[in-house]
Amino acid sequence: MSEEKSLNFLEEIIEKDIAAGVNNGRVHTRFPPEPNGYLHIGHASSICLNFGLAQKYKGQCNLRFDDTNPSTEETEYVDSIKADIQWLGFEWSNELYASDYFEKLYQFAVQLIEKGLAYVDDSSAEQMADQKGDIGKAGTDSPFRSRSISENIELFAAMRAGTFPDGAKVLRAKIDMSHPNLLLRDPIIYRIKHVHHHRTGDAWCIYPMYDFAHGQSDSIEEITHSICTLEFIHHRPLYDWFIQQLGIFPSHQYEFARRSVSYMITSKRKLLQLVNEGHVSGWDDPRMPTISGMRRRGYPAAAVRQFCDMIGVAKRENLVDIGVLEFCVREQLNKSANRVMAVLDPVKVVLTNYEAGKSEVLIADNNTENEQAGTRAMTFSRELYIERDDFMEDAPKKFFRLAPGLSVRLKHAYIITCNEVIKDESGNITELHCTYNVDSKSGSDTSGIQVKGVIHWVDAATAVNAEIRMYNRLFTVEDPANAEGDFKDHINAHSMELNVHAKIEASLLKALPGEQFQFMRKGYFCVDRDSTVDKLVFNQTVSLKDTFAKEMKK
Ligand code: ATP
Ligand code: MG
Repeated sequence: MSEEKSLNFLEEIIEKDIAAGVNNGRVHTRFPPEPNGYLHIGHASSICLNFGLAQKYKGQCNLRFDDTNPSTEETEYVDSIKADIQWLGFEWSNELYASDYFEKLYQFAVQLIEKGLAYVDDSSAEQMADQKGDIGKAGTDSPFRSRSISENIELFAAMRAGTFPDGAKVLRAKIDMSHPNLLLRDPIIYRIKHVHHHRTGDAWCIYPMYDFAHGQSDSIEEITHSICTLEFIHHRPLYDWFIQQLGIFPSHQYEFARRSVSYMITSKRKLLQLVNEGHVSGWDDPRMPTISGMRRRGYPAAAVRQFCDMIGVAKRENLVDIGVLEFCVREQLNKSANRVMAVLDPVKVVLTNYEAGKSEVLIADNNTENEQAGTRAMTFSRELYIERDDFMEDAPKKFFRLAPGLSVRLKHAYIITCNEVIKDESGNITELHCTYNVDSKSGSDTSGIQVKGVIHWVDAATAVNAEIRMYNRLFTVEDPANAEGDFKDHINAHSMELNVHAKIEASLLKALPGEQFQFMRKGYFCVDRDSTVDKLVFNQTVSLKDTFAKEMKK
């Protein structure tokens, strides 16, 4: 993050507030996920924003679970959300739950009733919808709007006590049935739901609506800058109305545009469908745009943070190119990932002039971009594997890799020359017979031979088999959420391709789940959690090709 970067509109607001001494210059934000799914790339942007602002202005950021809707919330989601935020590198000042405020929120509702600002309504959902009116058409009062304060207090207590079934009654704020903002036409603030809550169990059978819980929760925590996405802009007058009527701490709401990324879905509800209907293996499937999916795919946390920082905040929605995210992933991995050799589509090379049974140890740099990365040992012997497409039988002029009569350098090792191509009965190449030049060893080459091509390889004697999961985009269209038909119509049938015949260098046997590598010339890969000593499994994180960087240079 460069210091010269101009302030975004939220930073401008905050700096103005600090300068004016609002709340004594205190900055307190919160990240308020509803624990009804796993966090995705859009949430990452909100996390970086809220925690980032608190860091920048030496304030605090709460993690508040917005768990007021018991039908969809689960403890599994709470745990995953905490793990994801920590993985992203942020620490919350306080871990809080809106459900801890249920008693307080109930008392707030009683206060409104006592002030004549809320009433119990027996109307059905349809009747209330009819009463609502429309834009430019005033609503009509509910017949229950004029209930006495004492009757309302009694009925609301009975709602809490469980006297009525779901849907029999609601509590509504008494605001203005002809208000130009439809959200202020006597909104529902409490509904009856005889549902078990993941934290409060069966203590409650009435639950507050989002609008009645969110602002008051902010206020209880004395949040100074409550940042949410643009669709809540029309809720802001209601947010302010409750705080004002209750005379509680004046938190303020600010809106920014939701983030969406091309080829990705950023809706928990839709992601849940992908999981439940088996289109992916789970919330952390490496193709998922969830934080846990990206983590399993091998995206470094620093890359996700860099991405969120790069796209910044906006007041208007737009689709961010997934190439920007992949650019950040490559940039981080280029610094942090050790280089190793893996042959994804192997063909055997036999060095006919290399003594059988002999083996030598070669030392290679792990990462020339990072001095601290150190070196590792690799073995070299008579039989090796190279990529099938690094050899061509009838090579065109500019083919600088291996072909009959041509020479190529094996990375970190020797120059070899191909003399003979061995095929099976159906004409498939099974072996390449080559000779190596004994004086051409990397680092001490006295052979005087010039070759243009350098290719990777592994020693057949020590190479390890690995399963490699190659990924393509999960959707075939840029904006699946807004594409024609159902978003699932656009799932890419080839989003994962299994490679079970890869040969990788033996040093990778020690690699742990989550560890990230650059397979030289092939891309970035990481060890999957399915990996075992007997069966190594890697995920392709991202290819080496960087179309976005090229775009930027144009
Ligand atoms: P979804 O539609 O995926 O369920 P949500 O908004 O309902 O998302 P919440 O758990 O309520 O999910 O979100 C927690 C916070 O993250 C909110 O402050 C919300 O505004 C923010 N957020 C959610 N999605 C995005 C997004 N795509 N871009 C930026 N912020 C987001
Ligand atoms: Mg939500």
